[in-house]
Amino acid sequence: MQKVDIKAMNRAQLTRWLADELEVGPTRANAVFRALWQQGARTFGEMEGVGRELRAQLEPVAEIRSLEPEIELASDDGTRKFLWKLHDGHTIESVLIPDGDRLTLCMSSQVGCAMACTFCLTGDLGLKRHLTASEIANQPLQIQKLLPEGERITNLVLMGMGEPLHNLPALVPALENLLDDHGMKFSHRRITVSTVGLVSKMGELAAALPVNLAVSLNATTEAQRRQIMPITKKHSMAELLQACRDFPLPPGKRITFEYVMFRGFNDSLEDAERLWGLLEGIPAKVNLIPYNENPHRDLKRPDDATVKAFQHWFVSRGMSCTVRTTRGIDISAACGQLGRMREQAAARA
Ligand code: SF4
Repeated sequence: MQKVDIKAMNRAQLTRWLADELEVGPTRANAVFRALWQQGARTFGEMEGVGRELRAQLEPVAEIRSLEPEIELASDDGTRKFLWKLHDGHTIESVLIPDGDRLTLCMSSQVGCAMACTFCLTGDLGLKRHLTASEIANQPLQIQKLLPEGERITNLVLMGMGEPLHNLPALVPALENLLDDHGMKFSHRRITVSTVGLVSKMGELAAALPVNLAVSLNATTEAQRRQIMPITKKHSMAELLQACRDFPLPPGKRITFEYVMFRGFNDSLEDAERLWGLLEGIPAKVNLIPYNENPHRDLKRPDDATVKAFQHWFVSRGMSCTVRTTRGIDISAACGQLGRMREQAAARA
């Protein structure tokens, strides 16, 4: 009999399953949930606050899945990259980025990605498979356990391998467990889900969870975006921006528009002006990401003066516009670099 992946369920699902399968009440179900998501128990035997009889009942019907650490790399700038091996041999990565009093974890949602953005190395892999809810939520759970006492991951961003909205059925329970008061207790204000613009799924995300939304825009005309982001053929930029206008944002929240800058492609002040016009009517902030050059692409990074001038265009008009500093260059911390190398090596073997 296939054992149930117990960490793939949210608390309500777990409570129902325990009642149906083992006639366990909600109080003991909460204790099991806390042992999984607060204590981080890796076996039923080590669960604290759960009776011996229930632990023995769980053993034959359920399993606690964990990620297997494959490589951990530390950058001179404090960034740490974790490569995990999954039970079927695939690899995914998570990147931990310290920045002042923030400690942000960039998480993966899929092995590879189907979106094929031309500038992205993960896109080269295609989609190998979706991650399960437990594989998504295990990333912060296991990394938190590696940190020294008193140090805590403060922010979670779904910007690693994969398009998170392409995997909503697993993403939602995973995030519910990270947000749950009996789980990892993250604040919804500290979780950001990034999308290339799966328009039909944006409303579903908003209906399920009050987390922050980031949209990876990267262009200011339809033709320009089609060149680098094939999703634009399915959902035009106009359609995407309308979905952003319709997105039910709670008061005070804004959508972050990520804008990867490529030298001579989308970095002019005309682009800045067009981007400003596109965002009209959307509570927005802009995050500029000068492209992280790598040996696999001819794309170039704009010089610092160009990035500064682009940023100034927005800031001088009163819109928040930040520039993401490149982190972890010495450990290939850019999106998908390490995972791509491992997956390609595995395919060749
Ligand atoms: S940028 Fe994101 S959505 Fe696009 S191919 Fe890479 S991982 Fe997928």
